[in-house]
This record gives sequence, C-alpha cells and structure tokens, in this order.
Amino acid sequence: MEKIVVMKFGGTSVGNVEKIKKVASRVIEKKHLGYNVVVVVSAPGDTTDDLIEKAFLISKNPDTRELDRLLSTGEQISISLLSMAIKEMGEKAISLTGAQVGIRTIGSHTKAKIKDISSEKIVKELNLGNIVIVAGFQGVDEKDDVTTLGRGGSDLTATALASVLKASECEIYTDVDGIYTTDPRLVKSAKKINKISYDEILEMASLGSQVMQARSIEVAKKNNIVIHVRSTFSKENGTFILEEDKEMENVLVSGVAFDKNQVKVSIFDLIDEPGVAAKIFEALASNDINIDMIVQSTANNGKNNISFTIDKTELNNLLNIIDKLKTKINIGTLKYDENVAKVSIIGVGMRSHTGVASKMFKILADNSINIHLISTSEIRISCVIDKDKLDIAVNAIHQGFNLDK
Ligand code: ASP
Ligand code: MG
Repeated sequence: MEKIVVMKFGGTSVGNVEKIKKVASRVIEKKHLGYNVVVVVSAPGDTTDDLIEKAFLISKNPDTRELDRLLSTGEQISISLLSMAIKEMGEKAISLTGAQVGIRTIGSHTKAKIKDISSEKIVKELNLGNIVIVAGFQGVDEKDDVTTLGRGGSDLTATALASVLKASECEIYTDVDGIYTTDPRLVKSAKKINKISYDEILEMASLGSQVMQARSIEVAKKNNIVIHVRSTFSKENGTFILEEDKEMENVLVSGVAFDKNQVKVSIFDLIDEPGVAAKIFEALASNDINIDMIVQSTANNGKNNISFTIDKTELNNLLNIIDKLKTKINIGTLKYDENVAKVSIIGVGMRSHTGVASKMFKILADNSINIHLISTSEIRISCVIDKDKLDIAVNAIHQGFNLDK
C-alpha cells in the first residue's frame, strides 16, 4: 500500500462552509501527491461548547451516556459536510463515525480511553480509492454505547489512527502556523518553534497551554509518530514534534507556559503524623481532582501546613470534599486564593545545564514579583505568582532566556 498520511483539522478550520471547502482542496492536493489520506475532524467552531451549554440548561447534572451521544454529533457534522465538499470537487470520499471505524474504548463516559482500533475498515476504504474522513473525539464502549475522549480528543483520534495505520505523517492543522515559544497574544516577540520534543510538549499541555491534548502526545511518543502542527491556511512548515535530539538539549529553555485558571489552596494546622496527607489526597484523587504543585512546610509545634494548586473548575468540588473530611480528621483552617497564576519554563536542556532555576527566580525578583509556590520536574520549573503580575513575568522571562532571538 502507498504511504498513509493522517491529516487532522481542528474546529476553527471547519468553522464555516468556505473553510470546509478550503480543507477539502487541501486534502485533495495531498491525495494527488500519491498518499492514502485519512482525515480526522473536530466539531465546527464552538459546537461542542454550545452542546454542553444546552445539556446543562436541561439538567444540572446531565446523564453522561446521553451527554456523550450528544457531544459526538458535533464531529459528525464536520465529517459529512467535508465528505460532500470533497465529492463535489470530484474526488472519492467516505465519512465514518468513531463507532464505524471500530474505535473501542474503556473507562467512563466523557473521558473514555481508546482500548483498540481495528484498521480493517479504513484500509478497505482506502483500497477502494476513498479519502477516509473520521469523526474525532469519539468511540464506542463494550456496551456499544457512544463515548467521547475528553476535551480536545480529536488530537488523540489522529495520533492513535496514525499509530495503528503506521502512517508516515500525522499532520495537525490548526488556525495558527505552529507552536510558539509562548502565547503571541501576550508576548509580541514570541517565535515559532521549528521542532520540539514530545516531553516538552507534554509539559506544556499539562501546564494549560492550548497546544495539543496531552494523551494524544503520549500515544505519538509511544509509537514514535512524528507530529507536524501547521496552519490550514498556509503552505509553510509549522512545528515538528518528535524524539529529542542533541540540538534540542543545547537550548536551555524552549518555551514559557502559563495558566490563569489556577487556585492556590492552603490547609493550615494539620497534625504532624503519618497518614494525614495520604487521607487528604486520597479523598481528592478518588474524586478525580487533579492536584498540582504540592508544598508542605516543615512541622512547627507538631503542626503542618500544606499548599497546593488546583484548576478553578474543581474548587467547589474540593471544598465539599474537605468539608466531609473534617468530620473524620482534624483539619485546621483552609484558605484559598483565586488571584494567582502559574508561570513555567520548559526545556530538555535543563537536564544537562545548571542555574536555570536561579535565573528564573532572579528575573522575577528583578521585577518585584513575589513567588508563592515553586515546583519542578526534570525539564520544567513552575512558579505561582500574583495574577496581576503575570504579563510582566511572562514577558520578562521570555526575554531573559533569549527566546525572542
Ligand atoms: N470537539 C471536541 C472539543 O471541543 C474535541 C476536539 O475539538 O478535539 O473538545
Ligand atoms: Mg479542539
């Protein structure tokens, strides 16, 4: 079989009829280059958000099976319209839902995981000369119920398909021309990155940068699929995401990420004895609350303080859980602060270079920015700071690490 390419188009790329026609001709061009083309599309524009809003107007707590059924329809609008557009231009195409392709999932509704994909149906359609258009973000579970793969899940559909089909390319088409050293809306001098490692992108995704869905990168990394993030409306190369190489290690910092949707939570006067932290974080984990940046101070007078950050959307949930926990263990006082933001630097070069953290702290200090919390990984340093200082911080760090050069 000729080479297979997977082309994924995000919601903004199929936001209206004109754009769908542009995507159609882009896809046909690829086919004429001699590729077998598999296309994955997201729901048009804000369709998914609109559907979620409607569901919540009907119920405060919509049935998740029905919610998945509803959300999966957004992508189905895109596949059928795109297929029609391609046929109108004289090429052969067929649209398929996740279920039709045989994307089997496990796990709960609205955040299902892909268990396996049979390539049979797609390969058969490709052999018939079709451009195969697959609805992103969805699959079907062991009960044959439609499931969705979490927000941004079309990326996962794309990299998972590229993996099973052993595609030679996985292209992620979007409305920007690649991945930038930081958000160009905040920093004018942000630069497009030519290539970046899976690990760096994974850190960026988990830090709230709207790059690509994190799980989609994990799948690509595991199967060594090179991802090309590029613009739907330009022929220029975008950003390649691939295994790290020597050249990347020579760069100290590849990007500055930030997250304005964090809340800092502090629990004061916890008894300093084994199992207290375990109880708190077990309770949070079993309720699917994602914790970040845990800091525990050294005990003083037999009491401890623990601070951590969570996503703003989880705050109410967290407060309820802690309230219940109060009846079981002695929790002192809980305080939270919503006027914070997280700024992070990411770079595989940190593995082999020293002084990166101190330089970041110095830049913040030089700008009179106070640091509330610090956390690090092998290739990332994050600081929680006051939200109203975020713009200054991101700009200063970006410049301080020469990312504008
Ligand atoms: N339409 C879904 C969402 O908005 C999936 C995607 O766009 O990747 O999250
Ligand atoms: Mg999306």
